[in-house]
Parts: sequence; C-alpha cells; structure tokens
Amino acid sequence: MNIDQLLNELRREGIRDERVLDAIASIPRELFVPEAQQPYAYENRALPIDCGQTISQPYIVALMSEALKLQGDESVLEIGTGCGYQAAVLSRLAGRVTTIERWEELSQQAQKRLTELEIDNVTFLVGDGSVELSTEERFDAIIVTAAAPALPDAYRKQLKDPGRIIIPIGEESTQSLMLYQLKNGEWKTTHLGGCRFVKLIGKNAWQPFAD
Ligand code: SAH
Repeated sequence: MNIDQLLNELRREGIRDERVLDAIASIPRELFVPEAQQPYAYENRALPIDCGQTISQPYIVALMSEALKLQGDESVLEIGTGCGYQAAVLSRLAGRVTTIERWEELSQQAQKRLTELEIDNVTFLVGDGSVELSTEERFDAIIVTAAAPALPDAYRKQLKDPGRIIIPIGEESTQSLMLYQLKNGEWKTTHLGGCRFVKLIGKNAWQPFAD
C-alpha cells in the first residue's frame, strides 16, 4: 500500500475530517518505524517499534484525532509518545502538543524525527504520564495512547472546560476506546468502539512505575 491507498482506506472506514486526512498525508509514516518495518509503513495496521512497543494503526490515529475535534489553536496533552507519529499528526491539527513517554530512548528518537520534519510545536517529557504533570498546566484535549484499567483522575484535573479526553480502557486483550467530554462542569461519556493498545504502566494505571 502507498499513502494514497491508505487515505482511501481511511475514508472507506469512515474518517471524514479533511484536516485529519491532510495531516496524515503530510507525515511520512515510514520515518517512524524501524527499517525492517518500512515496507509495511502504509498498511493500515500497528507495527512493532523499539522497547517492545508499537506504532498505532493509522485508522486508530485518524479516529482518535478526529474525535478530538481540533480547530487549530488548542493545547493537547498526549500520554505515550512511542515513536512520535501521533504527536506529529496532532502538531498539524492543534496549536501546541505536549507528549510524555516513560522510555527515554523512545522519547529521544521521537524528538529527533520531529526535528527532522521541522515540527516545532511539540514539547517532549519523560516520566509517568498516569500522574498529574508537575506544571499544573490545563489542556483543551488529552489523548492517551496506551490502555488503562480506568480513567485516571489526573486527566480530569488537567483538562480545561470545555475539553475532551480520549483513552482506551480495558484489559490487555480487549479495550474500549472511550471519549469523555467536559462542558459546563458536566461529563458525557461515549464509547467509540473496540481497540487494542499496549498497557499504560504507571502509578495510576497497570503497575507501579519503577524505572
Ligand atoms: N502514540 C504512539 C503509540 C504509542 S504506544 C504512536 O504514535 O504510535 C504506547 C506508548 O505508551 C509506549 O511507548 C509506552 O512506553 C508508553 N507508556 C506506557 N505507559 C506510560 C506512562 N505511564 N507514561 C508515559 N508513557 C507510557
């Protein structure tokens, strides 16, 4: 598959937001995967990256990005930088992106890739993203790209009103992609479908953060 075939497949699967499709078209996914995976870079599936982690399936990146309904000037927090692909896509859709990863090595690789792509509106942090950031900053949107047993309280506290959180919730083998919307102090929860992410590992997630 090439990028045009991938974009057609995303459209067929229901992605409608042209800003999201343009953002995906503008980020070369092959730069985000190990060399051995490069022939498969435009297939619509997750692929293995370093540190036993994965780059998300393009459809899931598109679905999550679309669900955040970004207009262009928002601040977004991403938990789980991984290879940096989702952060790169978000950098085209929002004003500012902060992304946190527990593996320093992955964070550094991601940072290098985004620098090469001349993306300068992404801040990289290393640490446990299941707890509140020390900055006490509030975000318009929070996207969690690793699966948690439940919604950590930290995310509700770090969200502006109005705001949106998207997060996979569930066990290792099956998870639900959940959208939490805050408006005028009221929370609304929507189930967006099934998915399968690697585990969110941290103090408020699957096991104590011990690195
Ligand atoms: N966003 C990535 C997919 C990341 S896979 C993409 O664009 O393809 C999930 C990532 O979450 C992994 O790299 C994993 O190391 C990281 N992760 C898991 N638990 C974490 C935590 N508590 N804090 C920060 N990152 C975490």
